[in-house]
Amino acid sequence: MSESRRTRFERGLLRAEPQPVTRRNLLKNAAALTAVTLVPAALPSAAYAQTEGGIATTTLPAERATKPGTSLVLLGTRAGPGIDLTRSQSGSALVVDGRPYLIDCGYGTLRQLVASKVGYLQINTIFFTHLHDDHTGDVPALFSFQWTNGKSTATDAYGPYGTARLVAASVALIRTNVEIRTADEGRTVDVDKQFHGHEVSATDTPVRMFADDRVEVTAIENTHYPPRSKAAMPHRSLALRVVTKDRSIVFAGDTAYSANLVKLARGADVFVCEVADAGVLEQMEERSKAAAATGNPNNIYRHVAETHSSPAEVGRMASEAGVKMVVLNHQLAGPSTGDLAYPVTSFIQGVRERYSGEVLVGQDLMVL
Ligand SMILES: [Zn+2]
Ligand SMILES: [Zn+2]
Repeated sequence: MSESRRTRFERGLLRAEPQPVTRRNLLKNAAALTAVTLVPAALPSAAYAQTEGGIATTTLPAERATKPGTSLVLLGTRAGPGIDLTRSQSGSALVVDGRPYLIDCGYGTLRQLVASKVGYLQINTIFFTHLHDDHTGDVPALFSFQWTNGKSTATDAYGPYGTARLVAASVALIRTNVEIRTADEGRTVDVDKQFHGHEVSATDTPVRMFADDRVEVTAIENTHYPPRSKAAMPHRSLALRVVTKDRSIVFAGDTAYSANLVKLARGADVFVCEVADAGVLEQMEERSKAAAATGNPNNIYRHVAETHSSPAEVGRMASEAGVKMVVLNHQLAGPSTGDLAYPVTSFIQGVRERYSGEVLVGQDLMVL
């Protein structure tokens, strides 16, 4: 970055003209947005169902629950671990012939499942890309309110090493509530038989993570954890490919450029990928060097700089994989963007440096 460019960046000026994120601007910026539906601000009243516990809860609107085919619902699109009031942390739902599957469950996901009308009692299957808290923060809340509000079927979570422990720990966290309500309200659902964690190994070739009559999910290791960190821990990070009868959707997870991810995403209909503002990544690199100079080589700035993707890197992976469409989630925007004025244009232009297909900057509650 040149000196003048850096100065402008640091003053918060080096970003695409901020645009209010409206349907009109999205349509203007993202070329040929076929099949994109924004959830309207005023949703039709949700269908309500009586659960076994007798508690009314939101469910999929009838038209979506019965709609054949695959819908991608972006529940949370901001990069973690920060928290704000306008966007939720990582979470997406795939609704396949009316059956929802949850991919990641960062803070805010439970509320977004309600807001989107996907519902949370309907979630029987969860896939984790990795176990950073901006992808798992709402797991205990999801489990607790599934149990309390009358879900009696099992919920199975699939992910990398540590998923079983995370599920067991979440059950331990909600156990006091379970004990109180079991004694006081005559509950009969055994929490220990309801929530299950399953782990897959992270490798350089795709491994099958899950399959049922509607989806097949394969996983491959991405580059979110650098070798220096992997040497000191058993944890790994995954990219996921979900294939249904009508669509193939790849979730990159958090990652820097990854040849494995390119391999997994080959020819996919939708490439859901994280993105980090290029200026932020450069700034993180500089801060990392400063922190290293004071004796802290493995600092958070180094983590951000080395393990996330600039828009151009997203474009490179999308181009090499030959995907049909890029959807950006887990967005780490530039400074001073404020509220909803995310740098839609700069993200799209950055991806387009390397990729000529459709690019969509995701927003919470967008349905594709
Ligand atoms: Zn993350
Ligand atoms: Zn992460």
